[in-house]
Amino acid sequence: MKAVFQGNRLWCWTGQAPDLPEPALVLPDGLQVHRVPEGMPVPAGVQSLGLREAHGILAQEDWLRAGRGWQWLVWSEAHRHCGACGTRLEPGETTGRKCPACGLQVFPAAATAVIVLIRREGELLLARSPHFKPGVYSAVAGFAEPGEALEQAVHREVMEELGVRIHRLAYFSSQPWPFPNGLMVGFKAEYLDGELRPDPGEIEDARWFSLDRLPELPGELSIARWLMEDALGRRLAPSWAP
Ligand SMILES: [Zn+2]
Repeated sequence: MKAVFQGNRLWCWTGQAPDLPEPALVLPDGLQVHRVPEGMPVPAGVQSLGLREAHGILAQEDWLRAGRGWQWLVWSEAHRHCGACGTRLEPGETTGRKCPACGLQVFPAAATAVIVLIRREGELLLARSPHFKPGVYSAVAGFAEPGEALEQAVHREVMEELGVRIHRLAYFSSQPWPFPNGLMVGFKAEYLDGELRPDPGEIEDARWFSLDRLPELPGELSIARWLMEDALGRRLAPSWAP
């Protein structure tokens, strides 16, 4: 199994693999992640794709594997030197790295974000941020902070971004999000109380939408869409979802 990247583009082929440099790293499950030099011409029979466009072209399983390779590669390339003293890191315990000078240890990690779909009788509370495509509304999301439980992060984000309180919080599913190193943790919740006051710094518009008159939804790639399909009684979530 191989995942091959040139810049931030993924090389895809069917049949005979192209000639490749030695893998930049080998993941614990054996996946070989290769880094091809930027200037190297793309060989005949190889398609060079951005990870987002590769979704829908590759089989889901292959896309997930490529995304996993990308997350590890990004982590590996951003952790060559000690963040505390600048010394070059050496291999450490299991998949980690260790600083021979000051002893700092680092381990591959993803940035954890929470996303929550809020509903009340027959309606969903959706919001749009200024960087969404025109007309698209989604569930609210934000990064969990160090020292915070995921549930606390959900309540905090909802209060900060929308000004309302929720209850009956329930886990939905998670999704590795390789742009570049995220883990999205999805929840469902019910509206409790409070007046809708979107944070103008992050939210361009937020409103209640009737389930039978939803706006344009995010692409099928994202857990946000899986949550909405679930609210509509349909399933788009991947095999690992409960
Ligand atoms: Zn150090």
